Amino acid sequence: MRADLVLTNGKIFTMNPSQPHAEAVAIKDGKIVQVGTNDDVNRWIGKDAKIIDLKGKTVVPGFIDTHIHVADFGTVLAWLDLSNVRSIQELQAALKARVQRTPRGKWVIGRGWDQNRFAEMRLPTRHDLDAFSADTPVILYHECGQICIVNSKALELAGLTKQTVVTGGDIDKNAETGDPTGVLRDAATSLVWKFVPMMTEDELVEAVSLAFEKIVKAGVTSVCWIVLSSMELPVIKKLHVQNRLPLRVYVVVPVDLLDSVLASTLPKQSADNALRIGGVMIFADGYLAARTAALFQSYKDCPDSSGKLLYTQEEMNALAVKICKANLQLVIHAVGDKAVDAALNTVEGTLKEACGKELRNRIEQAAVLNEELLQRMKNHKVIVSVQPCVVDSEFRVWSAAERLGPERVQWLYPIRKLISEGVKVSGGSDCPMEPLSPLLGIKAAVTREFFSEECVTVEDALRLYTIDAAYAIFEENIKGSIEKGKLADLTILSRDPWMVEPKEIGDIKVEMTIVGGRVVHT
Ligand SMILES: [Zn+2]
Repeated sequence: MRADLVLTNGKIFTMNPSQPHAEAVAIKDGKIVQVGTNDDVNRWIGKDAKIIDLKGKTVVPGFIDTHIHVADFGTVLAWLDLSNVRSIQELQAALKARVQRTPRGKWVIGRGWDQNRFAEMRLPTRHDLDAFSADTPVILYHECGQICIVNSKALELAGLTKQTVVTGGDIDKNAETGDPTGVLRDAATSLVWKFVPMMTEDELVEAVSLAFEKIVKAGVTSVCWIVLSSMELPVIKKLHVQNRLPLRVYVVVPVDLLDSVLASTLPKQSADNALRIGGVMIFADGYLAARTAALFQSYKDCPDSSGKLLYTQEEMNALAVKICKANLQLVIHAVGDKAVDAALNTVEGTLKEACGKELRNRIEQAAVLNEELLQRMKNHKVIVSVQPCVVDSEFRVWSAAERLGPERVQWLYPIRKLISEGVKVSGGSDCPMEPLSPLLGIKAAVTREFFSEECVTVEDALRLYTIDAAYAIFEENIKGSIEKGKLADLTILSRDPWMVEPKEIGDIKVEMTIVGGRVVHT
């Protein structure tokens, strides 16, 4: 038997404790057939084998992102990117070019501008946009996502005038005339957004393909696609049928789509390990930033509020049993300590009795914890899925410390405590809300600035995105490490993450991504 692809002269970190390092890998029919020294692998080289000389480059198991909104990411990629625009004039030029290639009647949607970067140092107005987009409705989101600028056509279609009032947001008005300037804030942004037509199925298929290109470029070989809308299911099916999945997809649907999934003809698990309908997500609560995460004690910066649970315990138990009986993974989004407690009540009680088999229940976020919750997660082998870049945002963007006060905040995302207690933790991006790159996530976990006692080692951070992520989706036997018999999913890096300064880990480049022995990015 001869290999069809061989990688030699590398610095290979296998994440397999019985053989942590290697120089070379041989691959046949999409699987790893040998791992070892150059000599060990030499005998696998036949005359038709493709040989890649790694020249000392670092190889790790292909990254697995256990929390990414692929459809949203694709949608955002299809929008006009204004993040590099340095003046209102440049913004106008970009808008003009986009309007020219936009079919009549379609909207132009953009994102990423920030007036602090503009030479003019002011907010744009609808008049700045109107000059280049008289008949095309335009909505351009600020970098923060909470503010947008729209043109006069968009205001007209949405019926916004100087008389419009909005609760929970603002419509900026001209000081003299009282007319809307086009700048909308918070809830006011949705007054226009709700008039923007949804993408068609075919448009979404193309947008997702664009997202996949970026995802494999980031070294990711498997994703947990967190579905948010019913429209995504036919898109997933189409991509699979048309053989357009360049990486492996584990689908997690919201619980209100459970019946549609059960009724659909989507394969539960495809033979080529490319697609698996894996999990169902229940939202137990909301988010800290919006003070909708359910806490036992009220928010420090808003004593009247402690968030609330979105289901009663009985409702959550019943849904969990239904998910379990459908042979799907229970995934509970729980941010506040009260929500984590409710999730654990479900796992500890009803679920075990009703399903009576080894379960790998997952809690997404599990942000606000305490010693008792941690021990319960450990005892019931609950997997915690975290997004290390989100941790950084909680402190930097929203000031979690103000939300929670000095005591509780010490228990916000205690990743190191979880790992040292033996709880399985997996890593994800939460892209497009946060950056896609697993290397940025690894860097965030290793160099955490707020409560740095929760920083983890490079090794542990890498586990979050490889072998432990594979465990979180029941696939540690076929991927997550570089071992004989496993799928040949590999990521080749420009530098060794153990050898660079921790703060430079995010700057390491992904030189090549291999999925099932196929080079999908170079
Ligand atoms: Zn998310």
